[in-house]
Amino acid sequence: MIDFINALTKSLKGNHTKESLRRSEICAACPLKEKRFYADFVKAEIKEVEGYVCTLCDCPIATKVFATEKKHLCQNWLK
Ligand code: SF4
Repeated sequence: MIDFINALTKSLKGNHTKESLRRSEICAACPLKEKRFYADFVKAEIKEVEGYVCTLCDCPIATKVFATEKKHLCQNWLK
């Protein structure tokens, strides 16, 4: 929960990093992303993931890309 709150705070503040941008680009090309109306409240670094969630956890991608806890890191980001 703390990881999610920290990630949400960073995304709302627009505290983008090279790593969050790299993750966003991977998510943009992922078939597991899905458009959801409730994910529009947070601005993404790139338009291709804005308003999308990861269907594995239903987290807005714009927020998820800031995760730091190992259990929240996507395997696709670690390749
Ligand atoms: S977090 Fe991973 S599984 Fe989810 S959309 Fe991004 S790349 Fe795909």
